[in-house]
Amino acid sequence: MRYPKLFEPLELGFVTLPNRILMGSMHTQLESRAGGLERLAAFYAERARGGAALIVTGGFSPNDAGNLGPHRAQFSTREDCERHRVIPRAVHEAGGRIVLQLLHSGRYGFHERIVAPSALKSPINAHAPREMSAAEVEQTLEDFAQAARLAREAGYDGVEIMGSEGYLITQFLAARTNRRADAWGGPLENRLRFAAEIVRRSRAAAGRDFIIVFRMSVLDLVEGGLDAGETVILAKTLEAAGASILNSGIGWHEARIPTIAQAVPRGAFAWATRRVKQAVRIPVVASNRINSPESAEEIIARGDADMVSMARALLADPEFANKARAGDRAAINICIACNQACLDHYFTGEPVSCLVNPRAGMETQLNYGKTTRRKSVAVVGGGPAGLSCAAVAAERGHEVTLFEASGALGGQFNLARVVPGKQEFAESVAYYAERLCRLKVNVQLNRSPGYRDLQQFDEVVVATGVDPRRPDIPGIDHPKVASYVDILSGRRQAGHEVAIIGMGGIGFDVALYLLEGGSRAPLDAHAFAAHWGITQEGKIEETTSRPKLQVTMLKRSTGPFGHTLGRTTGWVHRAELARHRVRMMKGVEYRRIDDAGVHIVAEGKELCIPADTVIVCAGQEPMKWGQTPFQARNGVCPHFIGGAKEARELDAERAMREGAELAAAL
Ligand code: NAP
Ligand code: SF4
Repeated sequence: MRYPKLFEPLELGFVTLPNRILMGSMHTQLESRAGGLERLAAFYAERARGGAALIVTGGFSPNDAGNLGPHRAQFSTREDCERHRVIPRAVHEAGGRIVLQLLHSGRYGFHERIVAPSALKSPINAHAPREMSAAEVEQTLEDFAQAARLAREAGYDGVEIMGSEGYLITQFLAARTNRRADAWGGPLENRLRFAAEIVRRSRAAAGRDFIIVFRMSVLDLVEGGLDAGETVILAKTLEAAGASILNSGIGWHEARIPTIAQAVPRGAFAWATRRVKQAVRIPVVASNRINSPESAEEIIARGDADMVSMARALLADPEFANKARAGDRAAINICIACNQACLDHYFTGEPVSCLVNPRAGMETQLNYGKTTRRKSVAVVGGGPAGLSCAAVAAERGHEVTLFEASGALGGQFNLARVVPGKQEFAESVAYYAERLCRLKVNVQLNRSPGYRDLQQFDEVVVATGVDPRRPDIPGIDHPKVASYVDILSGRRQAGHEVAIIGMGGIGFDVALYLLEGGSRAPLDAHAFAAHWGITQEGKIEETTSRPKLQVTMLKRSTGPFGHTLGRTTGWVHRAELARHRVRMMKGVEYRRIDDAGVHIVAEGKELCIPADTVIVCAGQEPMKWGQTPFQARNGVCPHFIGGAKEARELDAERAMREGAELAAAL
């Protein structure tokens, strides 16, 4: 077996888990929607069939105050218990096990009724909490116990008590947020009592043969959080209180250290979990940025943890565990940690999906059934849209030919993969190339088909992508001007004084590439910890860096810098560029580019931004090739997807989704 430790059974006393893969909790936005529980049942059942040993649902609050948002995602009544039955039933029928996550948001709830140990507002929430009275503390403990009892009745195999990431239980644990003078505040011993009581009462309410996972923060990454020694005391206390498994949480949501974004290397925090594992006898789970079977195997083999939690990894590939068990690594669709379709969706109120697997979260709606009428399909363009379309069409039984003008599949992903922290894009390209090969897609590289070539196909899909925009600025042909493609493809090198025209996602990526290119921080846990100033004790130290070059970024609009970046990842990019003292200017008018640099008008004044290299990152236009030859063809009506359809707002998530949706309908 290729990953022997990962597939060793795990004995919990009253139940044996078949392997070491726990599907971590993800809030999907379906928790509070009409019909959401039925969709969740299909979503979890697919992951159970895919071989995950234990699944954790998204968070449900044990009472009203603990809801995460204004919509009710609560598990506290008999009606909730009845409505939920569909989920454990579907998972059990699929051969899996599932626990319900109980999450009380505390001061992180986005509504008016939030409560916390002390009335201290969180820096990431506009709403301020009310301090809980002693009676409310007591009632909340009972609410957790009642929810655990109901979870058992609903058919769940257990509960996960969410005690990390800065939610209510963490707020009780840390002096940062707990200023109480009663029996629930003050010394550590008092602050631990709330967490321990929840476990103790849930155990008493739900019985001995019921899984209680406690998700504890192994690293708080905020000032006033628990230190390493206190974390160990917490772990021992939870074990004594009756927890079956300790899962790891990393960092509070208000921490200013990336914990799951692409900037984080694989398995970056397993060392902190190891400390907890060494202190207790119950199984301990490592978490965050574990997306491949080899990193999971390594973590368990090294003795850092007994299990690994994978959440987004199983959004990207529900069959992850079965494929890993079979040793078929190349068949796994790896999560690239982009957050674009999962967390970014969640925080804009949309149901969660996955960039590299558009079917995630759509299990009852987007199905790739076998076709009854096999067609010949030409896909023109081997970027994200074309790859996704060709793979699904071939999987459905169509005979697919994919034409790619360059010598490699991947399109814009091949540019993204060189940006520091975006190396995972290479995984997607490799996965799709392998999938096309297994599905016997006729891939023709270095080939732009002509009109006649395409006439022989039943269906033609144009996925030719985009060309970088060349803004109409005097001097744009100056030899010092390069496009982002020139720079990211390595065709051109930048000098020491760089001006970047355009501040969208690609402008930020290019700046990061110039300033952090070659950094080990996104690849290596030690380099990452040093880069972000994380000490072994779990404290944060200030770090500085000497910029290797002077970069100025420019844009015409006046909105905030980087406002189009990912909702949950943009701050990481901004923090990196601030560290390198990148100069950012908005509301500028471009006058000309010449030997001296870029001449602009800003705040009514003319000035020159000195530059030996000017990099244009001014968005894209649809590639000309796709636009003209197909306008008036007889017979075949081409389909346009991705950048060929709409270059404005181009993004890989839309491209891959359009590819899959079109292929599902062909
Ligand atoms: P973009 O987000 O549309 O940004 C283009 C930039 O060029 C804007 O800052 C715009 O700003 C400027 N611009 C547009 N027309 C111009 C003109 N004629 N002259 C001068 N400046 C002009 O495009 P992108 O940065 O190429 O990104 C493409 C897509 O990929 C976007 O959807 C983006 O979200 C996505 N992406 C995302 C990330 C991420 O980190 N989440 C990373 C890479 C790419 P002004 O109009 O203000 O000058
Ligand atoms: Fe992973 Fe991106 Fe998919 Fe989220 S959207 S699961 S981060 S690949």
